[in-house]
Amino acid sequence: MSLERLSLSRSTLDRAAVRRSEPQLIETLLADPRTLVALFHEGETAISAQPTLQLWAANSVSGLKSESPYFFLGVDGEGRGYLALSVAERPPTPEGVRWASLREVGALLDDTGAGIFTTAVALIAWHRFHTHCANCGTGTNVIQGGWVRLCPACSREHYPRTDPAVIMTVVGPDDRVLLGRQAAWPEHRYSTLAGFVEPGESLEDAVRREVAEESGVLVGAVHYRGSQPWPFPSSLMLGFRGEALSSEIRVDEVEIDDARWWSREELQADIKEGRLILPPAVSIARRLIEDWFGAPIPDDPAAW
Ligand SMILES: [Zn+2]
Repeated sequence: MSLERLSLSRSTLDRAAVRRSEPQLIETLLADPRTLVALFHEGETAISAQPTLQLWAANSVSGLKSESPYFFLGVDGEGRGYLALSVAERPPTPEGVRWASLREVGALLDDTGAGIFTTAVALIAWHRFHTHCANCGTGTNVIQGGWVRLCPACSREHYPRTDPAVIMTVVGPDDRVLLGRQAAWPEHRYSTLAGFVEPGESLEDAVRREVAEESGVLVGAVHYRGSQPWPFPSSLMLGFRGEALSSEIRVDEVEIDDARWWSREELQADIKEGRLILPPAVSIARRLIEDWFGAPIPDDPAAW
């Protein structure tokens, strides 16, 4: 069984792609009192207690200075439309509402909220970095509710992209797991190895290459475990488990500063003693490590 219910893979909205080509789609949705708008500023959105995504009626946000057009995220089971808007500054929020990043609250939100936040952050980031035609350099126009940019000079259409990245637990013949750390990370933080898929490369080869480059360990068989978007700014993390063919570690000292093997007993002991800090629950890295471990790993070592 593959990894289920990854924090950022829980989207519930129907993307309703067929509606994107509707003439005046955004205007129609803005005139519908049921429509809800999510606001974003520098990768953050407003979160109320529980936590829940704070959503606004369209007429309550019409006066805000925006940094993007409205983007169409989809519709819920009752046909209600959802829009995202990037704003130049944070509007006043009701009591108990604060602004938070997806990394901070992505694992805590309900399924609909997590899906809206993940999709909107990814889409807004793509538009921010892709304002001009990659073919002829002319400034492009947003069409189709934000799902296409059209070049007025050469008529080329540009679609929002996501960058495939592989991320993997590497497991030795003795069932120990290989984790590594970057020099810039907080002390004692170790995680799975990861890296971008290169043009012309299969996912399996990307897993083998990244592990070999970063740790010197050779990987044979590669098994797919699950995926989740990671819009910081535009990755799709594809999770794998790789079977190690060798155990000697030679870190590259560029991307990875240190890497080690852990048995389950060693991992549990090191977490309890504060010598090992795993990545947070919002990451697929954490879920891949738990997948190998065989159970959820509590954040608080005292809970063990
Ligand atoms: Zn062009």
